[in-house]
Amino acid sequence: MSVEKSGKQPMQTKNKILIAAVSAVVIVGVALGIYFGVHSSNKDSNNKDESKTNNSNLPTTTSSALPSPSPSANPIPPGQNGTMINGTLFPYYTLTGPAPAPVGVPGMVYTMCKTPGTFSISFDDGPSAYTHDLLDLLDKENLKVTFFVNGNNEGCIYDPTVQSVLKRAFNSGHQIASHTWSHPKLTSLTVDGITTEMTRLEQAFMDVLGVVPRYMRPPYGDGTFGNGNANDQKVQGTLKNLGYVITTWDIATTDADIDDNNNPHKLTDEALMKAEQFQYTSVINAAAKGTTHMALHHDTYERTVKLMAPWSINYVKGLGYKIVPVATCLGDEDPRTWYQKIGKPAATTPTTCTK
Ligand SMILES: [Zn+2]
Repeated sequence: MSVEKSGKQPMQTKNKILIAAVSAVVIVGVALGIYFGVHSSNKDSNNKDESKTNNSNLPTTTSSALPSPSPSANPIPPGQNGTMINGTLFPYYTLTGPAPAPVGVPGMVYTMCKTPGTFSISFDDGPSAYTHDLLDLLDKENLKVTFFVNGNNEGCIYDPTVQSVLKRAFNSGHQIASHTWSHPKLTSLTVDGITTEMTRLEQAFMDVLGVVPRYMRPPYGDGTFGNGNANDQKVQGTLKNLGYVITTWDIATTDADIDDNNNPHKLTDEALMKAEQFQYTSVINAAAKGTTHMALHHDTYERTVKLMAPWSINYVKGLGYKIVPVATCLGDEDPRTWYQKIGKPAATTPTTCTK
């Protein structure tokens, strides 16, 4: 059974990983062992997913670092529609015609894929200054993934440079899903607070892309597992009422926990990759053959984009899986089912996230 109504399996899986990780670290070496000792305590605080509880340790990855499209310098050829980025035309991804009935169930929590042979790779918390490089890699590999996007976290979604990379991802055919406006722990909010986190980002998605996503991922998985916050009916019920299919993960690379950006222990590329890759291999090796997986990365880390993502793609392909977006692996193969509303982007949008 690949559909998990409760968050029990991820917690059990996490425990298995933790036990296995501690064992492996003994083999890997003392230095890495010291690291994992620290990391184990972090898991107890349910920060295994994203690391954005405190941004103060993060490097300055301002949106100004993002390449900016120059429409005037790169006019779109007559008869074509799209976004020009650094001289390359990215055609608008048109979603027209009636959508088939969606398969994903609002309010249901999915931690693994359903379609045999599929494997979903997703990236949370962006877009960031590294997302263009990731999109280049995905173009080269001819792969589509899911981006769980925030409204105001790594950058402001209305920043013109962030808008441009988000449009590029969407127009390229990747699934765009919600990760809340500001990345809070949803169990800490009231129903109204959860609703505002979702609807404020809905408005931004409509403004920038002309769609409202059907799929979402709670920051930290909060409300679906961990720290007594599993199966939180306030969170899941509110998301259900808002029409959202809830998707978490069964493989977390822990990039948000262990990359240099967010950890005082400066890991070499080799040590970091060894630790992140172990998260993949330990889960996959422990699972029955043919098990489908949902893997979590963050496109807000340079080494995730430049080192880990290429490794993940090659590894998963080597196992014989087909890499697809989260919705696709749950049976929603038609991109029109990935969105609750499909319309047109706003002619003009705000350029900041200040109200
Ligand atoms: Zn996140």
